[in-house]
Amino acid sequence: MSMRLVVVGAGGRMGRALVRAIHETEGATLVGAVERSGSPLIGEDAGTLAGVGPLGVAISDDPLATFATADGVLDFTTPAATIEFAGYAAQARIAHIIGTTGCTSEDDAKIAAAARHAPIVKSGNMSLGVNLLAALVEQASRALNAADFDIEIVEMHHKHKVDAPSGTAILLGEAAAAGRKVVLSEASVRGRDGITGAREEGTIGFASLRGGSVVGDHSVILAGAGERLVLSHHAEDRGLFARGAVKAALWAHERKPGLYSMRDVLGIGA
Ligand code: NAP
Repeated sequence: MSMRLVVVGAGGRMGRALVRAIHETEGATLVGAVERSGSPLIGEDAGTLAGVGPLGVAISDDPLATFATADGVLDFTTPAATIEFAGYAAQARIAHIIGTTGCTSEDDAKIAAAARHAPIVKSGNMSLGVNLLAALVEQASRALNAADFDIEIVEMHHKHKVDAPSGTAILLGEAAAAGRKVVLSEASVRGRDGITGAREEGTIGFASLRGGSVVGDHSVILAGAGERLVLSHHAEDRGLFARGAVKAALWAHERKPGLYSMRDVLGIGA
């Protein structure tokens, strides 16, 4: 039987891409679409909005009732909305696929609590390429030690993005930290300005650029004396993330409760 999916934030950039990806995927059916109360999109057909023609699914502002008809929810919204949806998905015991970035550690603790009741797949990037890149970054960071190689992560995104560094940059930073056996929050340097002093050995630096319509560019630079290793990924189309999210939903369907990553879905180890 086809997996019945709900898209929350269905009017957003990723929401529309998710509706298109579900429409194109055999074994997945869109049964609900949600936007916030008061949104001018309430009542509109989610398929028409996404450009695939009417699908008979009207955008609703009632997540709880919508989740009751579904097997899974795809969520690329905001941290506050995602926490709320995690509670509803746990109540309905359905899979929750979270692509939302910018969550705090308190948000993540609430998501982990919800994962005791339902399967959750959360990832700052749902693409195969970035998750493979993370495994390569972990390997390279382990092989090239901190005394000889400095790690810097550079990302660029479109001008509408509201959080920095990107969820993908953090995902790659965590892979580098795992390779170096350090804790990212203790090693990371978020941006530099003014007289910063010399670079501290073993830190992992982040730089964020914003502009235009860039879907997502990431480079992890391992800089040594006289040589530099650069591991990069360029996303050209947000359909990539949407297809990854649908794949994660199909993988999570009827899986036991727990918090999973895209590396679990794709079966990529370090
Ligand atoms: P966006 O265009 O602003 O879309 C977000 C949508 O969520 C908007 O339609 C927004 O409605 C809606 N929303 C917010 N709060 C809501 C609520 N309480 N109930 C229902 N709907 C709500 O943003 P985007 O570019 O699609 O990105 C969304 C998130 O996905 C960001 O965190 C981004 O970083 C992340 N992302 C992740 C990946 C990945 O692979 N993991 C890839 C791309 C993007 P309003 O406009 O009315 O607020």
